[in-house]
Amino acid sequence: MTDQDHNHQLYIETVGCQMNMLDSELVVAALRRDGYVLTDSPKQADTILFNTCSVREHAEHKIYSALGRLKYVRRNNPQKVIGVMGCMAQKDQDLIFRRAPHVDFVAGTGQLAEIPRLIQETRSAEKRAPHKAVSLGRRDGSVSEIAGSFQSYDPLRDPEMRPTPFQAFVRIMIGCDKFCTYCVVPTTRGPEQSRPPSQIANEVSVLAGQGVKEITLLGQTVNSYRHTENGQLYQLSDLLERIHDTDGIERIRFVTNYPKDMTDDLLQAVRDLPKALRYLHVPLQHGCNEVLSRMKRGYTVEDYDDMMHRIRATIPNCSVSSDFIVGFCGETEQAHQKSMKALRDHRFKNSFIFKYSERDGTKAERLFPDDVDDSTKRRRNNEMLDLQNRISEEDNSEFIGGKVRVLVEGPSKSATKQAARDAEPMPGKPLATQLAGRSECDRIVVFDGNPRLAGSTAEVEVHDCTGTTLIGSIVTREVQHGSTELLPILS
Ligand code: SF4
Repeated sequence: MTDQDHNHQLYIETVGCQMNMLDSELVVAALRRDGYVLTDSPKQADTILFNTCSVREHAEHKIYSALGRLKYVRRNNPQKVIGVMGCMAQKDQDLIFRRAPHVDFVAGTGQLAEIPRLIQETRSAEKRAPHKAVSLGRRDGSVSEIAGSFQSYDPLRDPEMRPTPFQAFVRIMIGCDKFCTYCVVPTTRGPEQSRPPSQIANEVSVLAGQGVKEITLLGQTVNSYRHTENGQLYQLSDLLERIHDTDGIERIRFVTNYPKDMTDDLLQAVRDLPKALRYLHVPLQHGCNEVLSRMKRGYTVEDYDDMMHRIRATIPNCSVSSDFIVGFCGETEQAHQKSMKALRDHRFKNSFIFKYSERDGTKAERLFPDDVDDSTKRRRNNEMLDLQNRISEEDNSEFIGGKVRVLVEGPSKSATKQAARDAEPMPGKPLATQLAGRSECDRIVVFDGNPRLAGSTAEVEVHDCTGTTLIGSIVTREVQHGSTELLPILS
């Protein structure tokens, strides 16, 4: 019996962004072809993978603690293979083996194709020795050598690892060349490289054939996409047009945008292409020019204001979300108040607000002291969150009494938790459960309905809200042939 005849049990834990979720999906797809099945128990698994994130210290601590716990599991099961993939693998490399000597291999973000081989070699080795598959550092060669060492890995898909069966991520570029001073991504994901539009269009067609209706195009700075194919330069607006008419695809979104690359042609494409969602995630990061300059973000608050003005003027009812860092090096109270002002001025749909955490190997670590104490960071973080929540709730309340079109994703988080508690539902319990989906402006919407509606588009009347959620009742849902049918209000 060969090794491939076994059904190996794979446990994979993923932290970080959507790019990591996609990487995990693709690695799992490759391993399934070699006969692996997924398990949610690290104890049962014979292969354990951690797909890691280095953007914040907290995410790294979480992984090192999880690896620490595995030391004893591994001691009792010496055959288990343990691998670390992703950003930490690229950034920390040998440090991982020093801190967790029971790790068998590390595979950086540009080396994911190597993982099946690394597992196989580890398993068949007579004596375990650490293996490393990583790409070049940003100073370890010419730009093309470094770029060549980061491979975009997009060959296979695994429907079970997707957010839902009808939603999929599609990577359109890897890496980043912006070098913001606080960020590890240019090191962990290498130089900016866009994928050929024909490859992306093929992938979208394959996914549509598998029943995918909503595509999220991914890139660290997705609107910096540029690729020349057959003599034609494709920017993101051209790519959107190219994939727009793919049969079966109903919605297209793209994340994350870089403010300086938010060109008018892209805004016009979002306005004119019916399947493009009216939603843009464009991180401002800070409301003070001195801080933005220390962050080396490459734009001023005034540039961002101008971009927001163009978005509002071009795409009516477009929602915009942002990211903010609080407590960055040298942030004064006055500077913090400028971030608060930016929140008030732009009324983002939501903002991801993070306390600055210094990262090894970044310019900020070398150039600026991390001089805002933790309690001040926490207080400023809470102030920003409170203000954003107030704004989100006020703006969400304007939807009350109106209707929104929702792609139904399935039972809401609270319904899923409730179902887990009710292991044996009461006989005669109604079929309706709380469902969740997203509107065309990316707002989370919950309403009662039958779980079989997952994957369909429904019209929902909104009658209440919180800062994060619209709450409503279903009015109609679309049927396959494109007309609408009235659904009873489900009990
Ligand atoms: S744009 Fe800046 S923050 Fe975003 S990934 Fe690139 S370096 Fe990091």
